Amino acid sequence: MPAQESLAEGVRAGDRAAVGRAITLVESSRPEHRTEARDLLASLEAPARPAVRVGISGVPGVGKSTFIETLGRQLTATGQRVGVLAVDPSSQRTGGSVLGDKTRMPRLSTDPDAYIRASPSAGTLGGVARATSQAILVLEAAAYDVVLVETVGVGQSETTVAGMVDTFVFLTLARTGDQLQGIKRGILELADVIAVNKADGDRLLEAKGAARELAGALRMVHGKGRAPAVVTCSGLTGDGVDSVWAEVLDHRAGLGAEGLAAKRARQQLDFAWALVRDELEQRLRRSTAVRRVRAELREQVLAGELPAVAAADRILAAYDSEADAGPGEPVN
Ligand code: GDP
Repeated sequence: MPAQESLAEGVRAGDRAAVGRAITLVESSRPEHRTEARDLLASLEAPARPAVRVGISGVPGVGKSTFIETLGRQLTATGQRVGVLAVDPSSQRTGGSVLGDKTRMPRLSTDPDAYIRASPSAGTLGGVARATSQAILVLEAAAYDVVLVETVGVGQSETTVAGMVDTFVFLTLARTGDQLQGIKRGILELADVIAVNKADGDRLLEAKGAARELAGALRMVHGKGRAPAVVTCSGLTGDGVDSVWAEVLDHRAGLGAEGLAAKRARQQLDFAWALVRDELEQRLRRSTAVRRVRAELREQVLAGELPAVAAADRILAAYDSEADAGPGEPVN
């Protein structure tokens, strides 16, 4: 049996080692691996029931790993299998806590019904996104019921994750004063569920107040449209984590089967274009013809001798002359 087929069979059987190998394959940026990964994914049928794909985001320290550990354990306790993936294009640079790191979720990582995968350390957000979106498909084919995709709010990573999941959860903390102010603008459009975390001990009342204020403000912002649900929880004590999950399921159910399928289809189309844009940027960076004109154009633009539009035309002309010469590496 070809290696590919036995790998696909292992994934379908939910074999952990096979799932791990398959994810390593889809994370690889080597051209021959990309082709293999595409073939593997093509040979994995869609699961009978699509997994519940949930994005979880929030600033470092908001309590994501504690929350995921608690939520994951609650879900596996009810017999569900849970996969945890991470999108963290910054992990390489900061050298800080790598999202999805097993040591951050010690109990969930030893749970046989959970599969935790640290963020691939492959450079660009596009590369990480490619790996993660394919890893979701692997977990889904391996009959995981729930896939949690964790991300820290760095740059575009939240938008990227929102484009891969059915429901996007934003964890935040109670703040004094204007609750809306503490949340990055774009988040409000992405979030389907907002959870004010660390609602325990001395902070319980403050968190409840913050949630009320936030819910009120969001109703004003959204008018008649569906405002994201706002709840409080404590990943540490577990209080309210079930209500966060109830809101997730409620949001997803609200999409309906057809709505969910349409959302996923639209995400695929958007993602295809995102991959193309990412690949083009990589090619632009790699282009020797562009590299050749870069220094000279830089001098001329900085000296005020060449207008930006003219410089852009020359960069594109250099790129096109090389692109016409032959195809680059495949995209998958
Ligand atoms: P992450 O960086 O978002 O993954 O946050 P962590 O889960 O690592 O939590 C950061 C810190 O906050 C740790 O010291 C946790 O013990 C603490 N923490 C996390 N969740 C809660 C919570 O629900 N309540 C309280 N009081 N502390 C929490």
